[in-house]
Amino acid sequence: MNLDSHLHESAMALGADYFGIADLTPAHDAIHEQGGTPISVYPRSISIGISLLHPIVDQLSRTVTRPAAVSYLSHCYDIINSRLDQIVSRLAGIVQRSGCRAFPVAASKRVDDQRLCAVFPHKLSAHLSGLGWIGKNCLLITPDMGPRVRWATLLTDAPLVPTGQAMAERCGDCRECVAICPVRAFTGRSFRAQDPRSVRFDAGRCDRYFNMMRAKDPDTAVCGLCLRICPFGRG
Ligand code: SF4
Ligand code: SF4
Repeated sequence: MNLDSHLHESAMALGADYFGIADLTPAHDAIHEQGGTPISVYPRSISIGISLLHPIVDQLSRTVTRPAAVSYLSHCYDIINSRLDQIVSRLAGIVQRSGCRAFPVAASKRVDDQRLCAVFPHKLSAHLSGLGWIGKNCLLITPDMGPRVRWATLLTDAPLVPTGQAMAERCGDCRECVAICPVRAFTGRSFRAQDPRSVRFDAGRCDRYFNMMRAKDPDTAVCGLCLRICPFGRG
């Protein structure tokens, strides 16, 4: 079995719902801008996705109850992120044993509080591997589950074959995520690789909203309306 198939089969056996391999070279400059040389040195990436549970996502609302918030934070965030990190760690070991370099990017960890971003955008890898498009809510939208998927990434120099190409946007005239955001964080502009995120999304508005909710009650500090409302993946 070649390395690509070994990694794919291992990921699915470990509980992944999505697996993709991306060629990162078209996005090198943007990756370098966000993560610097230690991150942009890798020419390929493996995306791992795990689907969220519909009954939990469907409970999200402007007035989310404490049980609904606890369910979401546990089963759609902490546990899924831990499962993703476990899978990516195991795949990193496989890649390293094959003689190549592997750098796991944690499932959901902000490293820059000024720019409000992680060291690498998981959605970029998933997008370039053909698993979905970047929607007006700045999330990766899969054709079947919409944005109801969490992601982690393994960066590597292994000579893997990309599983696809960047998927064209299918949002069309829809603006549901733009309209529902309580702090009007989205501009409604479609994703273009050459634009900075700020053209589409004011991350500071979302962050301040979360901080305000946490100050009121950390146990119910959940929003996710831009995820719940998307017609892709909505039941
Ligand atoms: S999580 Fe809520 S506040 Fe943040 S962008 Fe989405 S809808 Fe807006
Ligand atoms: S809610 Fe509509 S505009 Fe927003 S990401 Fe989903 S399809 Fe695109």
